[in-house]
Amino acid sequence: MGQKITCAQAVDYLSKKEEGKLTLRQRYQLWRHLLACSLCRLFRVQTKHLTRSLRQVPPANMPAGDKAALIEKLAAEKNTG
Ligand SMILES: [Zn+2]
Repeated sequence: MGQKITCAQAVDYLSKKEEGKLTLRQRYQLWRHLLACSLCRLFRVQTKHLTRSLRQVPPANMPAGDKAALIEKLAAEKNTG
C-alpha cells in the first residue's frame, strides 16, 4: 500500500474521482498524495470549483506562479517517466 503516485496520476485520479471511477486503493493513494503535495491540493480546489461553476462563472484564476510551478512539475515527471 506504500506505493506513491505522481502529480500527473493525482490529477488523473482527481478527474476520475469526480466521475466516481476510483477504486478504494486509488482514493487512498490520491489522499496520501494530496497530504504531501500542496500543488495538487490547490489543483483539487480549482477543479472542484470549476466543476461546480463551469456553466455560470468563468474559471477561477489560479495564481500564476503556482500554475506555472504545477505545469513545470507535470512536465518534469513526464520527461522522467
Ligand atoms: Zn502533486
